[in-house]
Amino acid sequence: MKLRKLANFLDKSRLRPVLAACMPARGIVCLNYHRIGDGSRSRLDRGLWSASAEAFDRHLAWLKLHSEVISPADIDMARKDVRNRHVLITFDDGYQDNYDLAFSTLQRHGLPATFFIATGFIDDPRLPWWDEIAGQIRCTEHGAIDLPEWLPEPLPLIVGEREPVIRTLLRKFKSLPGEEADRFLSDLREATQACPTSLHHEDLWMTWDMLREMDAAGMTIGGHTVNHIVLSRAPAEEQWEEISTCATRIETEIGKRMDYFAYPVGDRNSFNKDSIDCLRRLGVRYAFSYYGGLARADADCYDMPRIAIEPHVDQSWFRGIIELPRLFGRQ
Ligand SMILES: [Zn+2]
Repeated sequence: MKLRKLANFLDKSRLRPVLAACMPARGIVCLNYHRIGDGSRSRLDRGLWSASAEAFDRHLAWLKLHSEVISPADIDMARKDVRNRHVLITFDDGYQDNYDLAFSTLQRHGLPATFFIATGFIDDPRLPWWDEIAGQIRCTEHGAIDLPEWLPEPLPLIVGEREPVIRTLLRKFKSLPGEEADRFLSDLREATQACPTSLHHEDLWMTWDMLREMDAAGMTIGGHTVNHIVLSRAPAEEQWEEISTCATRIETEIGKRMDYFAYPVGDRNSFNKDSIDCLRRLGVRYAFSYYGGLARADADCYDMPRIAIEPHVDQSWFRGIIELPRLFGRQ
């Protein structure tokens, strides 16, 4: 991977700060994490683990020394401060490891973060579609997945090599409109005959008590819809239902307005004008996407770009993302 080699070279040669001084990145580097810990043996979607607890600790230690980490309430100030670079730390979905591992590490370093939650998972803990798809493929005893309506040919399931099949099925699911996606999932259940309830963990998601404690400690709780639907695939009324109910639940449980929101999936095609209209009506101040890039002073309030932190992002790459986001912060 060329970027990894470049990041390592810039780190070892100490050229990164020199290069960063030549091409200063002014704006907000918005980082996005999902899960913290070790997901290497999980039956759920392993792509969701952004960093180990140790790596996350190293990220924060380095950020504390080399950058200015802000809360979303400071975004207006940061956008006016065009001479400096700021960092915003965000988490999506609301997994319980965010409380167990990320929150304590953030507190230890005295740094704030924003947690975007799908309120339906907090209110009614269940497996989300991405974890269910991964679990179905990992648990099935069948030798291949044959979904003639959805796939051009059967996908062989080789033990130890199921990850590419999971990625293919997740991509397929994301590409389908709402009702078709539900039908695809139900056909997949039929084809795998794997029992998703055996994968269910009551403690998969944070609780409202945990979220209240995090809010009281200076963390920000933002919205991420109720059921984590891909908004652009849904009609305007359903989008309103998902976004406004999420806002109401946060206001009821946390006692604060939903000022910040992150689009589920977050790529350029995952939200549309109807989504932004809903957010405007509710008075949401900033909404975040997820396809890489630096949030400059003139960034759209309803399309604040975020950079994915994923397991392959090692420490030198992470430093490259912060200091050279135009080079290392692309999706
Ligand atoms: Zn999400």
